[in-house]
Amino acid sequence: MKIAKIAGSRNSFLVNEKPIKCPICGKKEIKPALWGYQVQRLLKKFHIVSCEPDFSTARDWGCCNCNAAFLRNLTK
Ligand SMILES: [Zn+2]
Repeated sequence: MKIAKIAGSRNSFLVNEKPIKCPICGKKEIKPALWGYQVQRLLKKFHIVSCEPDFSTARDWGCCNCNAAFLRNLTK
């Protein structure tokens, strides 16, 4: 897996596949990202995206423990 922190962000990373472990908190709680309004009843299965004032770009996965964001990087 390749992972690179996005310049200027606090907890956002570019990855080429879904990370197994969060590089910030070390927990294996990375889930596919869904916006909160889409699935209130699937809270356990997905990472619900909250407002990130410092980085609002859509993410592909997120850490349920510390809210780190992971974006798929298509350039290998
Ligand atoms: Zn985390």
